[in-house]
Amino acid sequence: MLTLNKFYIDGAWVDPASDATMPIMNPATASQIGTVSMGNSEDVDRAVAAAKRAFETFSMTTKAERLALLENLRVATIDRLGDLAAAMTSEMGAPATMSLDVQAQSGLGHLDDFIAALKNLDDEEVLPNGDIISREPIGVCGLITPWNWPINQIALKVVPALATGATCVLKPSEHTPISAQIYAEIVEAAGYPAGVFNLVQGDGISVGSAMSRHPDIAMMSFTGSTRAGTAVSKDAADGVKRVTLELGGKSPNLVFADADLNKRVTESVQGCFYNTGQSCNAPTRLLVERSCYDEVLEIAKAAGEAQAVGDPAQQGDHIGPVFDKIQYDRVQAMIKIGIDEGARVLVGGLGKPEGLETGWYVKPTIFCDVDHDMRISREEIFGPVLVITPFDSEEDAIKMANDTDYGLAAYIQSSDEARVSRVVRRLRAGTIQINGRGPDYGSPFGGYKQSGNGREGGVFGLEDYLEIKVRPPFTA
Ligand code: NAD
Repeated sequence: MLTLNKFYIDGAWVDPASDATMPIMNPATASQIGTVSMGNSEDVDRAVAAAKRAFETFSMTTKAERLALLENLRVATIDRLGDLAAAMTSEMGAPATMSLDVQAQSGLGHLDDFIAALKNLDDEEVLPNGDIISREPIGVCGLITPWNWPINQIALKVVPALATGATCVLKPSEHTPISAQIYAEIVEAAGYPAGVFNLVQGDGISVGSAMSRHPDIAMMSFTGSTRAGTAVSKDAADGVKRVTLELGGKSPNLVFADADLNKRVTESVQGCFYNTGQSCNAPTRLLVERSCYDEVLEIAKAAGEAQAVGDPAQQGDHIGPVFDKIQYDRVQAMIKIGIDEGARVLVGGLGKPEGLETGWYVKPTIFCDVDHDMRISREEIFGPVLVITPFDSEEDAIKMANDTDYGLAAYIQSSDEARVSRVVRRLRAGTIQINGRGPDYGSPFGGYKQSGNGREGGVFGLEDYLEIKVRPPFTA
């Protein structure tokens, strides 16, 4: 049984202020695999004080010094990719192959992308009017991350803070503390000065909101649910902190009859189920041109029935369980709501897949004939559940796609380039994927509307951590 009973503060592994703990659960076995200490506002105060002290010198480092440290971080990350992957498999059920190749690898992918972006970002720039702007780190940053892409989200926040000369306090999800602790060990191994990076484990109410309200934190970067993101914004408002938010989604996937239906619909179903449907940008609403609706249902049914579910400890391209009982119960409740609302179950349904009764496994489920106003079409379900709705015209499809509180991502399947560019212009979403291809590392990621504000990744991701100072050229 693993015991995580230290926080990383001021360059040392220290005892938490209280002895409160929480069990760490493996979703595949529904059994306890360890215990994590839960922090409180006293731990936050210590971590922020350390980050504030460290900011005085770290903010004055040169770009070359920070690039050298990021290269150390790269070596230390590569060293621990296997450990990160194993941790995420056991704490949130990411299947072994994708846990290493995608979940853990994202820590390296984002790091490389930020190194490239930093190399191209000038500390100073002369404006056309002759004035000079300088880019300076914002101060102490509070970083709060979710459990569904643990290392992806940590890297998207910690690396730009370290790259720009800011200092930080990380509060990872209380459900994925193991990968976060390993990440802290990676930063330690990279040789950052004491206090530049600090880790406090704990929940949102005790640690998260103490960070959002802390007078010495200049910026909060939050990824998680829209509910908690709103709470962070409110807590941060009195101190006029900068707040960047990466929140939920209910992303539309528009399928036109001129698409390569077999390939595009099969991959769309797999895309929705990927990471067991627990991705903020999952294509969860399949909007289908009516002239090909029946054909699409047939393809989707075959793809849904072919979706393998299994033990995340095994290699392979199957999906694992959802991350815990809370999520299992939520997903079951939404499937029940879909049935009660009168949507037709094309694949899956309530209960666990046969032979997988122990862990928090869900049947990959597809609803068709879904009315756009049904709750299963409007609310984020965060499990392997796809809803299919027909549309009659391009205009109709765009209207339905945009008729949501969210605006994180949108997907288009069509072989008509003119149509695709027309539709892209009209979609209110931060990321558009076209015929299975999405943006690469280094591109900005973030949402419109209630999917958040700010952009993570690349130069845009660095800018969130920078202040702009302007001065005239020197005259005596
Ligand atoms: P969550 O909002 O419950 O928790 C996210 C983090 O916020 C956790 O660390 C949690 O402890 C903390 N938290 C909770 N309440 C808080 C509060 N009042 N103040 C401060 N911190 C608080 O979300 P989750 O269940 O961990 O993650 C799933 C959600 O995250 C989904 O809605 C998903 O769409 C979203 N998400 C978004 C992105 C993105 O980039 N847009 C990426 C991944 C996940």
